[in-house]
Amino acid sequence: MLQKADAVVVGGGIMGASVAHFLARKGIGKVALLEKRTLAAVSTGHSAAVVRTFYSNPLTIKLAKRALEMFGNDRDALGGDCGFRSIGYLCLLGAHTREAGREVLRCLRAQHVDAKEISPDEVRGLLPQISLDSVVGGIYEPQSGYADPVKTTRSLVEGAKARGLDACEGVGVVGIRLEGNRVAGVETEQGVIETRLVVNAAGPWGRHLGLSAGLNYSIRWSRECDMVLRLPSGFGTFPLISDTNFRVYFRPEGDHEVLIGLGWPKEIEPLDIDAYDPRLDAATRERIERGAFQRVPAFREADYVRGWTSLYTITDDWHPVVGPEPELEGYYACFGGSGHGFKLGPSLGEALSDMILGNTPEIDIHAFRPGRFMEGENFSSVWGGGNRA
Ligand SMILES: Cc1cc2nc3c(=O)[nH]c(=O)nc-3n(C[C@H](O)[C@H](O)[C@H](O)COP(=O)(O)OP(=O)(O)OC[C@H]3O[C@@H](n4cnc5c(N)ncnc54)[C@H](O)[C@@H]3O)c2cc1C
Repeated sequence: MLQKADAVVVGGGIMGASVAHFLARKGIGKVALLEKRTLAAVSTGHSAAVVRTFYSNPLTIKLAKRALEMFGNDRDALGGDCGFRSIGYLCLLGAHTREAGREVLRCLRAQHVDAKEISPDEVRGLLPQISLDSVVGGIYEPQSGYADPVKTTRSLVEGAKARGLDACEGVGVVGIRLEGNRVAGVETEQGVIETRLVVNAAGPWGRHLGLSAGLNYSIRWSRECDMVLRLPSGFGTFPLISDTNFRVYFRPEGDHEVLIGLGWPKEIEPLDIDAYDPRLDAATRERIERGAFQRVPAFREADYVRGWTSLYTITDDWHPVVGPEPELEGYYACFGGSGHGFKLGPSLGEALSDMILGNTPEIDIHAFRPGRFMEGENFSSVWGGGNRA
């Protein structure tokens, strides 16, 4: 194993792979990406991987918009094929969410995103089998889509190998080694790597890794499940759909399947991140099916294929923590995706790498700095608290 690196990134999910990719591509030198399990083994590999811009603050919209551009040009921008399919995104609105949806549309237009309000009839045009029960309309983004999260992570890694990125799977970091108030290295299960630069992209374990350097992050963890059904033949195509009435989202999974999960507003379902059951339990499957079958009765004819349990790593305002810790030279945080981390990963990695290299990032991500909570500068959302940021 390496004994010295110009940068060490801890965690091989989308966040770590992205920042490691851009650091290497921008010429920092030798980058070690250390992953305790395998690349994309935890939240990233179990993600629905929806990439949409439907947010209510300018920074998140800008990052999501940039990510869409990158996925649309994945071989050049992200190092390889990410399995991206631009199929459109539709947020179904009810009477109680119409105003929030329209406010999001105003925010999207202010950032020059291609989005529009559509009528219930137009909703039916996108998915003829849909029930319009309690639907007053929708907001539609034609450019949005979904990617393959494992392919994306691997492409980011493969695409920067020739520029100095060395990904080490099966290597757990035990702690960050300090010299006074600066980073001096990382201690792994297989020895020490000397470095002056560490990025904490340990996802759910971002808090644990932070503690090894005296940093105390406020994080919650919540179970997050998805399931896949095989569609009846001839079902047809449809966009990604979020349903604010029946609290589910669904999207095609390839050409013959649909992936479904519980949507906004979500309860927090605490779990032990070191010992949870990765299977989909019967009660959650029933909750997902209840909402999905109400919205699309024809899904009742679909066959259950598979389901899983993974997790969200949630910060106090449901936005990631990304940036330096002013009192610890050489350390940067990049975790806390809070249900949005897959789509934000590529553009956050790009911006953070610029910040680390002393360049001015095209998108200013200072507002994601870890210190914002102490400074009372939490993000807010037109949807109130919770998972729709
Ligand atoms: C079911 C589900 C659906 C989702 N749907 C979407 C969606 O549609 N769109 C979207 O944008 N987001 C979605 N998300 C959220 C998104 O997937 C996450 O925010 C994102 O994947 C987090 O990436 P990460 O790199 O921070 O964490 P992770 O993917 O969890 O990666 C962290 C990695 O760090 C490693 N690690 C931890 N500690 C150490 C250590 N000490 N040493 C070495 N390695 C370590 C872990 O093994 C892990 O592989 C979803 C999440 C889930 C679970």
